[in-house]
Formats: sequence, C-alpha cells, structure tokens
Amino acid sequence: MMTTNTDVLIIGAGPAGSAAGALLASRGRSAICLERSWFPRHVIGESLLPRTDALLDEIGMLEAVRARGYMVKKGAVFLHEGRSERFCLENGLEGDRPETLQVPREDFDQVLATEARSKGLDLRFGQEVTGVDFRDDGAIASVVDLENDRRYEVHAKFVLDCSGYGRVLPRLLDLEREPALPQRVSCYTQVEGDRRPSGDLEGDVWICSHPDNGWLWIIPFSNGRTSVGSVCDPDYWAKLPGNDREKLWAYMQSDPAAWERLSSAVPVAKTTTIHGYSRKVSALHGDRWALVGNATDFLDPVFSSGVTLALETAVLAAKLVDRALGGESVEWDDEYDAPIGKAVGVFLAFIESWYRGELIDIFFDDRRTPEIKRQITSILGGHVLRDDNPFTGDASGELRKLHDRVRAGRAQQPVAE
Ligand SMILES: Cc1cc2nc3c(=O)[nH]c(=O)nc-3n(C[C@H](O)[C@H](O)[C@H](O)COP(=O)(O)OP(=O)(O)OC[C@H]3O[C@@H](n4cnc5c(N)ncnc54)[C@H](O)[C@@H]3O)c2cc1C
Repeated sequence: MMTTNTDVLIIGAGPAGSAAGALLASRGRSAICLERSWFPRHVIGESLLPRTDALLDEIGMLEAVRARGYMVKKGAVFLHEGRSERFCLENGLEGDRPETLQVPREDFDQVLATEARSKGLDLRFGQEVTGVDFRDDGAIASVVDLENDRRYEVHAKFVLDCSGYGRVLPRLLDLEREPALPQRVSCYTQVEGDRRPSGDLEGDVWICSHPDNGWLWIIPFSNGRTSVGSVCDPDYWAKLPGNDREKLWAYMQSDPAAWERLSSAVPVAKTTTIHGYSRKVSALHGDRWALVGNATDFLDPVFSSGVTLALETAVLAAKLVDRALGGESVEWDDEYDAPIGKAVGVFLAFIESWYRGELIDIFFDDRRTPEIKRQITSILGGHVLRDDNPFTGDASGELRKLHDRVRAGRAQQPVAE
C-alpha cells in the first residue's frame, strides 16, 4: 500500500483545518490536510464574530477574506415581544474588534482553503480518512481517495482532527459524551426579497425570540440573499404542519417581528433540517492528537460562536503542535484544555441563560449600566478569553447575579410600568 509521511495530518478543511494548516505551513512544518468533499461545499454557520477577524489577521488571511466584499456586520439585534435591543459591536471593551462579516460559507471556506494552500499547506480534496492507528512512534491514518477508490496510508507524528460533524477521532477513540444542552431542531434556507434595514444596520444579525418556542436567525449577505433559520424543541417542531419548508414558513409567520421583515421574501435555496446538533467529548487531546473546531464540543448557534471557536482552537492547537515538533515540552492540559474549556464555558453560560429566558430579561433591562452593556457586547463579539471582563470569570454566576438584580429592580417598579 502506498504511504505518505508528514509531520502533521489534519483531517478536514473547514475553517479549523485551513487555519491550523496555514499556521503550521507558514512556520515551515510539513502538514497534509485531507478533505473528503470537493469545494465549494455548503456548511451552515454564516454569521462571524469580531474575534474571528483578529484570528484571521493573526494567520495572514484577513485581507483575502475582506477582499471578497462580504456584508459587514456591525451589530447583533435581539427582538422580543415587539421590542428590539441592538448591541453595536464597536461598543465592546477597549481593544475588541469593532465589526465582522456575514459570509456565505461555500465561498468563505474556499477562500481559507486557497489561502492555506498558498502558504504551503498540502491540501487534498476528495480524500476520506477512515481510520487512525496510534503507535509509539506516530500515527498511521487509513485514507480512501474517493474518486478512484484507491486506499493508502499517511504516517504522521501528530494528528489534528478538524473533521467537524465527521467526528473522526471522537468516534474512533470513543470520546462522544452526552451534551450539556438538550437536543434541538434547526431548519434553514436562504431567501431573497426580505425588507432590510438600511445603512450600517443592513448587515446586522437578527435573533428573533419566537413567541411560542425557540428563536429565528436572519443573516443578510452582500449578494442579495439572506440566510434564515429556526431553532426550537423537537416536540414543537414535530407538531408544525406540512413538510420542512412549510414548517419553517409557518414558524416565521407566527413571529410578528420576523414576518414583518420576511413576508415578501422567497426561498432561493433548498431547505435543510438538522435534528440535534449539540456534541460533547470526554477529552480534547491525547498522545499525538488533538481535537479542533467542531470536532470538540459544539454547543448551539444562538450566539454565532462556532467559527470563532473553530479558529480559536485551530490557532492555539497549531502553535502548540509547532512547539512540540520543535522539541519543546507542551502542557496540553494547561495550555489547550484550560483556555478552550474557559471559552466554551462562557458561551455555554450565556446559551443556558438564553434558553432559561433570563438573558432576554437582562438584554431588555433599561437600568443596565453602560459598562455592563459593554462587557456583554464584548462577549457577543467572541472576546471570551479576556481576563478583564467579569463575564469571562464565573459567567454563570455573574449572569445569575445580574438576573436577580433585574428581577428585584422590576419588583420595585410601579405596576403601571
Ligand atoms: C444550525 C447551525 C447554525 C450555525 N450558525 C453559525 C453561525 O451563524 N456562525 C458560526 O460561527 N457558526 C455557526 N454554526 C457552527 C458552524 O457550523 C461550525 O462551528 C463550523 O463550521 C466549524 O468549523 P470546522 O472547521 O470545525 O468544521 P466544518 O466546517 O464542519 O468542517 C469539517 C470538514 O471536515 C470534513 N470531513 C469530515 N469527515 C472527514 C473525513 N473522515 N475525512 C476527511 N474530511 C472529513 C468535512 O467534509 C468538512 O469539510 C452553526 C451550526 C449549526 C448546527
């Protein structure tokens, strides 16, 4: 059987794989990235956070991404019971990136892959990794070249699993665990003809808290299309009438704020439904391997954290692998698991507070101080590893305290308010 040798094998060429590969290649490491699909391919996850811009900048890809002319996202708007609250991303904490982009993923992922190759990454499409055997002296991956069904092996010193929902190592190493969040259903498509706000507000992401169950996203692109999607409980979804497209339309129609914007929109892409998207793993690294991006834990799309966490993990893991290959000792528990656990933990706290309905109370509390709004905006911008934001410490505790204060303040108000 044919064999290829490399320092690092990267499984999957989504944002995580391309970013990790680009960083390693630009530091002179030999890295092969194997991607089972052919690009462009569609993946959901189109609203970025400002933190992604900092990470793309760090790996030398921001300029190429910006050159694509994607819609600039300057705010996140939450709509609830006839009211709306906008978080302007430039009003985060000092040093935060002030804006980001809304990206059609087939194009965005293609740009990252092309940039990674231009930095020296050996990236091959149509190659599926089917097994990995870890030995004392390295890893042996079994690969199928899907176009001609040819099988071969890749021998690597280290494996970065960036396979997203492919979940290659979580399956092979039995790392899958029960997710922290209940499984929900998401259904999405793209439309044309929605009534967009104008000027700086056009590129905002809208998160509509649905009056009955769950929420809707509205993500505008610069090509005239808008991504729309629902997230709700499986039982509620099952009871909506019709096929998935009809269910999605019924769901949008029963949300007045969303429908005001979408009533004249027409679908221009197929409808996709994902039943249960949350994932959790028992370990982020082991001897000669690390999980990166969606191959680790995936929480929930409500705060658009997926691509940011994919890049955060990719850049960090690639730096650590580079050091390890250079003969340095790396404390993966402290240097990888700890910061990634912290970042995921902050988002998890916000997501849980959102689904308990408490975050909405906090978002719409008129007496919230400007400083608290800046701190929350910083989190919504994906800056979850800053040490100077109380919400990146004990995020759950801070949110509960804040919510208690909001409720206490409400109770003191006259009934007429
Ligand atoms: C409903 C929903 C909405 C979302 N919305 C957002 C959003 O608005 N913003 C956001 O930032 N994130 C969002 N996300 C999350 C986002 O989709 C992911 O976090 C992001 O795509 C992760 O990137 P990745 O590189 O880790 O994985 P992926 O982008 O999934 O890439 C993994 C790659 O690995 C390849 N692969 C898989 N198995 C193999 C194999 N055996 N061999 C070789 N290659 C393989 C796949 O073909 C794929 O190309 C959303 C997720 C869901 C479910």
